[in-house]
Amino acid sequence: MTSFPAAARRVRDEQEPLRRRLWALRECALRFGPYGFRATWHHLIVRNGIPERLEADPHSLVRAVDELGEARDLWLPQLIVYERRRRVDKAMRRVPDPADLPRLGLYCPAPEVHPGERLAVVIGRVIERWRTGAEFCAGCAGPHVPVGICPTCGVCEDPRRLKRAYPPAGHRQDAEERWKAIWQRRLPPPRRPQ
Ligand SMILES: [Zn+2]
Repeated sequence: MTSFPAAARRVRDEQEPLRRRLWALRECALRFGPYGFRATWHHLIVRNGIPERLEADPHSLVRAVDELGEARDLWLPQLIVYERRRRVDKAMRRVPDPADLPRLGLYCPAPEVHPGERLAVVIGRVIERWRTGAEFCAGCAGPHVPVGICPTCGVCEDPRRLKRAYPPAGHRQDAEERWKAIWQRRLPPPRRPQ
C-alpha cells in the first residue's frame, strides 16, 4: 500500500500505462473515499467522464484525482486541528469530548446514489455543519436525516444504525453485477436506494 500523495503522483504520470494510472486512482479512492469506496468510485467516473476505453480521454484520470485531492486537502486540516486539541486535553487531564471528533458521515450504501456536486463542495458543508452545529444533510443541504438514508442524495450518516444491510437480501447478486459494470465503466442507469 502506498500513500495517497504517492498514488496521486502515479495517476498524473503520463509515462505510466493508463491501466496502472487507473489502479493508482483506485488506491487514492481507497485511501480517501468520502462516500465509501464504491460510491466514491462511481462519483469519480461519472463526474469526470472516465471512459470505458481510457485511451479516449486519458486526462479524465487527472481530473478525477484533482477532484479527490482537493476534497482531501480541505478535510485533512480538520483532523489535524482535532488531534492538536486532543493532545492539549490529554495534557490537561481533560476527557476529550467525542462530539469534537470530525466525522465525515457521508457513507452512501448504494454505489450509484450519492451527491452529484463536486466533492469539495460537499466536504465544505460537512465542515460548516461541524463548526456551526447546524442541522442539515451535508450531502445535499436538505433536511437532516439522522437515521437511515437521505432520500434526496443517498447519504447515510450513521451506517451502524441502518436497520437493514445494503444491498438487501435477494439483491446481492444483482448488486455485484452492477458493481462490475461500474468498475468497467459500462454504466447502467442510476437506481434509487432500496
Ligand atoms: Zn441529503
